[in-house]
Amino acid sequence: MKRFSLAVLPGDGIGPEVTSEAVRVLQAAADLFGFVIDTREYAIGAAGVAQAGESLPPDTRDGVTDADAVLLGAVGDPSLSQAEGKRRPEAGLLALRKLLCAYANLRPVAVHPALRHASPLRPERLEGVDLLIVRELTGGLYYGEPRGREAHGAVNTLRYSVEEIERVARVAFEAARERRRLVTSVDKANVLEVSQLWRETVSRVAPDYPDVQLEHLYVDFAAMRLVSSPAAFDVVLTENLFGDILSDEAAVLAGSLGLLPSASIGDGPGLFEPVHGSAPDIAGRGIANPIGAIASAAMLLRYGFRLPEAATTVEQAIGAVLAAGARTADIAAGATRTLSTREIGEAIARLVLRGRAAEPVIER
Ligand code: NAD
Repeated sequence: MKRFSLAVLPGDGIGPEVTSEAVRVLQAAADLFGFVIDTREYAIGAAGVAQAGESLPPDTRDGVTDADAVLLGAVGDPSLSQAEGKRRPEAGLLALRKLLCAYANLRPVAVHPALRHASPLRPERLEGVDLLIVRELTGGLYYGEPRGREAHGAVNTLRYSVEEIERVARVAFEAARERRRLVTSVDKANVLEVSQLWRETVSRVAPDYPDVQLEHLYVDFAAMRLVSSPAAFDVVLTENLFGDILSDEAAVLAGSLGLLPSASIGDGPGLFEPVHGSAPDIAGRGIANPIGAIASAAMLLRYGFRLPEAATTVEQAIGAVLAAGARTADIAAGATRTLSTREIGEAIARLVLRGRAAEPVIER
């Protein structure tokens, strides 16, 4: 029987609530497909500060590097918003991403037909939206040197090496092979030398994937197309800064932050986490939407444990539960009753356990 070690970092606010539902669903997938997950919990964020005085304690560092994959809830606590250095909860997350050498950030955005009303776009614009943003995560403007303030100005440096571009491009092409086989590479090659290198390098990698179509778009046009015809995209490949902005723009399409998963993969164990933060305004009330965390668990199965069939089963169970009308408060417009975080998690886990074809049982 296959065995996988999983480091679970529930973190702060709603992090522990949504993470326990993701673990419940992972366990259901393990039972159905016959593999074993050895789960160990570690502190991060404000929970790390409370436990060990820093947001990424040494125990957590050791635990994540030894694991096959890392599942994270969220970090952030209003009481530590003025904290500095290692006591800042968000610093723990940045240090974790760096520690895991996670250079490719994957953010899928799909709009479930039953949730089109929750998006600010007209429902007909959302038909068929199912895209994946692959953002370079450890290079570019956010990390370039030199950086800093000058006497009468400030400087940041945009630098990419061929190797950095090539490795993230390969992630995008590989992902496209499992999807609709279109990569849209986004740059600003009409202005920036770095973007010209980006375009040349991506074009040079493309012939290794003859079954995948490649197109190039300037970032300004891509930003417009994301709202004017989002269904035209399959895989969007881009650098750190452009990806940061475009992925938040794309997130709006789905209607609620609580629905969106992410994966950060690279040379170490992958990091899988919902896109949302610790949501202190709703923490502890059992009303957070666990679907972003559960969909992150599906990505963990696909990219972390390399079990695509188990991943698809979880994704289909999420879709079926939404189709059956199960709603947490954030997506409940028009629903007669809302379900708790746990009720949604249990409904999805039950469906997973029964295999993909079964109908959900949601107690009303
Ligand atoms: P947030 O994502 O925590 O919340 C934004 C809004 O969305 C809130 O109204 C919240 O109630 C709602 N929301 C978020 N997730 C939800 C869910 N699963 N179900 C239902 N509603 C949900 O962003 P914020 O309020 O700007 O930040 C709160 C804290 O989280 C801050 O400390 C911030 O630094 C941190 N943060 C952490 C991460 C992360 O851990 N990756 C990401 C973003 C923000």
